[in-house]
Amino acid sequence: MARIHLVLTDDWELFGDGSGNMRRIQFDTMKQLADLYDRFGLKGTFNVEVMQQLYHLDYGQRYPHLLALAHEWESLVQDIYARGHDVQLHVHPQWHQARYEDGQWSLNPRWSILDYSYADALHMLETCKDYLEALLSRSHPDYQCVAFRSGAWFVAPGDHILPILSTLGIRCDMSLAKGLYTQLELGKLDYRDIDEPFLPFYPQMHDARRLADRQQPIVCVPTHSRRWGIEGAGFSLVRKIAKRLPARLLPDVWHASFLPPNATAIRDSGVVKDYYRQTWGQKTGRVSRLSKAAAFLKSQSNRVSDLSSLSYLEMKLVMRDIRQRMRASGQSVVPVILANHTKNIGDFRPIEKFCEYLARASDIEVMTSREMVKNLYSGQYMIRSA
Ligand SMILES: [Zn+2]
Repeated sequence: MARIHLVLTDDWELFGDGSGNMRRIQFDTMKQLADLYDRFGLKGTFNVEVMQQLYHLDYGQRYPHLLALAHEWESLVQDIYARGHDVQLHVHPQWHQARYEDGQWSLNPRWSILDYSYADALHMLETCKDYLEALLSRSHPDYQCVAFRSGAWFVAPGDHILPILSTLGIRCDMSLAKGLYTQLELGKLDYRDIDEPFLPFYPQMHDARRLADRQQPIVCVPTHSRRWGIEGAGFSLVRKIAKRLPARLLPDVWHASFLPPNATAIRDSGVVKDYYRQTWGQKTGRVSRLSKAAAFLKSQSNRVSDLSSLSYLEMKLVMRDIRQRMRASGQSVVPVILANHTKNIGDFRPIEKFCEYLARASDIEVMTSREMVKNLYSGQYMIRSA
């Protein structure tokens, strides 16, 4: 029987502007997620954002409460790894030269690693990877950082990023997801047209959206995304209706099945209301009829399969899509990466149901990124080239 090697990644971090209550949105949620995984015998992969950690350690010399947070961060990451979950690298370059003033972080306006010089990008990625390996090899001398998820998915096109990653010994990039499109001041990317949205592949070293014609020193495994079509419009309608009703009127099964984990706000999250609209929304005035239509069309386009933003029913449709594409590919085993963001999980019920589902499914094997990378380089998967 065809088998799916499913990698449950999680980008573990504060919000992109440096805001957020770290204990609530990172520590508590990571513990809960790892407990869930353990209960169902699943292994997760936490892509931990290291730039924030380096700046907390640095400013911690002057501000004891930042140092306390950095130390809790370290012991939690060590604990998670010791429990058999994976820890890999996630880097948000907007922390470069961050300043801490009046009790809050002020980050720089360039969010894309592609907009930094070779020297700056190399310095950031190398320092972050060295720090993470030093931290985990204290108790696990064989720990290696081999997989990478770029901050806010910025990985292509770029002259430096893949060459730097491969120089540093990163074997696999997980930053591409078909359909992503951003043209903002903070960074630009366009993954609406990528050569291979599903299978592992050798990328062109200066533009990971394109297949190389031969083997390369790094492999890309796209993060799963799918086109939602009319189903997507149906789900967003259900969500809109639910939003207008008081939460207590909605039965438990409604929360667990129809609403995503991020439909419930994390208490004391320390993030501004409307953070995502303010950061990623296009800056328009009044909501015109035209932009309403655009929003409707967007709800039907490709969306990254991020567990924090999917209801349980949508998670099952994601699995249906994976099985269909797997059959179409003719492969007997394929690695598939799902995303998640613990900082947005206000309700664990949908993920709990999904874990139960995964533990029962006989064609799915949940594994860590490091196991997937091992398989990639031992010839278990077909790796595409042009
Ligand atoms: Zn991130």
